[in-house]
Amino acid sequence: MENCLFCKIIAGDIPSERVYEDDRVIAIRDIDPQAPLHVLVMPKEHVQDMTAPGAAEVADALFRAAAKIVSDAGLSESGFRAVLNTGRDGGQTVLHMHMHVLGGRSLQWPPG
Ligand code: 5GP
Ligand code: ZN
Repeated sequence: MENCLFCKIIAGDIPSERVYEDDRVIAIRDIDPQAPLHVLVMPKEHVQDMTAPGAAEVADALFRAAAKIVSDAGLSESGFRAVLNTGRDGGQTVLHMHMHVLGGRSLQWPPG
């Protein structure tokens, strides 16, 4: 979608560090990491958020990709956090559905 930051990243128009890719999903390192591992897992197809049609299937693909990423990073035992900020009150700033996956340190709850 035009004017979508993550669509531009997926198209390669804006550089990013890709840590995972399959036919439906990519994962990139967050530009402002909040933990030693902080990746954004997102569908290649533009889907705005969890309220969009088809979002449940997208979420399934994101969770499958996240499971591989944390396993490859060696975090399955220590644990990690997966977050899907949605909409204004959810703190979503980029309106292309994405899952934050954070790990590699002890994380507070609730987040600051
Ligand atoms: P949201 O607030 O929408 O849940 O998360 C958006 C995330 O995208 C933020 O954590 C922010 O640091 C990250 N981000 C914003 N711009 C860029 C960028 O150009 N490249 C990368 N890799 N991450 C970005
Ligand atoms: Zn997009």
